[in-house]
Amino acid sequence: MTRILLLGGTGDALKLARELGPAHVYSLAGLGKVPDDLRCSVRVGGFGGSEGLARYLASERIGLLIDATHPYAAQISANAAHASRAAGVPCWALRRPAWQPQAGDDWRMVGDWDELIDALAPFRRPLFTLGREPLAHLGEIPPHQFWTVRCLDGPADTQRARILAARGPFTLDGERALFALQRFDVVVSKNSGGGATEAKLEIARERGLPVVMLRRPALPAVEREFAGVAELLDALRAWLGEHGIE
Ligand code: NAP
Repeated sequence: MTRILLLGGTGDALKLARELGPAHVYSLAGLGKVPDDLRCSVRVGGFGGSEGLARYLASERIGLLIDATHPYAAQISANAAHASRAAGVPCWALRRPAWQPQAGDDWRMVGDWDELIDALAPFRRPLFTLGREPLAHLGEIPPHQFWTVRCLDGPADTQRARILAARGPFTLDGERALFALQRFDVVVSKNSGGGATEAKLEIARERGLPVVMLRRPALPAVEREFAGVAELLDALRAWLGEHGIE
């Protein structure tokens, strides 16, 4: 039982996957790019809930489950914790610390889509950086608003919305230029944490713009939690060394 199953879909998870040798498995939901240059195997698609994941852990003789999914991917994290208990396989998780508001920040915390739309009512030009969810609401844009939705991919622009297909990391200079050009008056964000998409918050601060921030979902406790990739990598190398595998 010396195989690792790494649940990913983030830049941090990809860094971990690059450390894994051919015995191990990197798993993706299938929404984004599938890397083709890893030494470990890559599988794509759901497991069929926590029961399916528990069955996979047993049938594939997995000895360690690592949850390095995005902090808002709450379902797969809950499934991972549940399946690890059911299968008796330890689960480690990367739990990126949330961003914290700094002096001068105007964050307006919301819990769901309805609260988010209410919080946006006073504004005209929101920048959405939440992923694909706003795409399902393009037909509901209030008459006084023009939306910019930044996500991995999406439909063509409409008269009421611009879809910016883009993948992080985003630089300060790039964000500064985008904000100046598009004259956003509010930013809509998840509290993803990490450095890859943090520049937008700094530019919002520079320009005195409010940020409507979707609260983080609760995540389950697991055997070991790590705040950063470097810390998890050290533990992973130690685990691989103890088991005499790469
Ligand atoms: P989610 O709601 O927690 O998961 C929905 C279902 O997708 C899970 O129940 C599972 O299906 C499947 N799934 C999710 N991650 C998987 C993985 N790594 N390998 C295999 N199956 C997986 O997840 P989500 O919010 O839709 O996010 C999907 C993926 O995108 C995640 O892997 C996450 O790391 C990545 N991502 C999410 C966000 C975000 O904001 N949510 C941002 C960046 C990247 P079954 O129940 O059938 O197993």
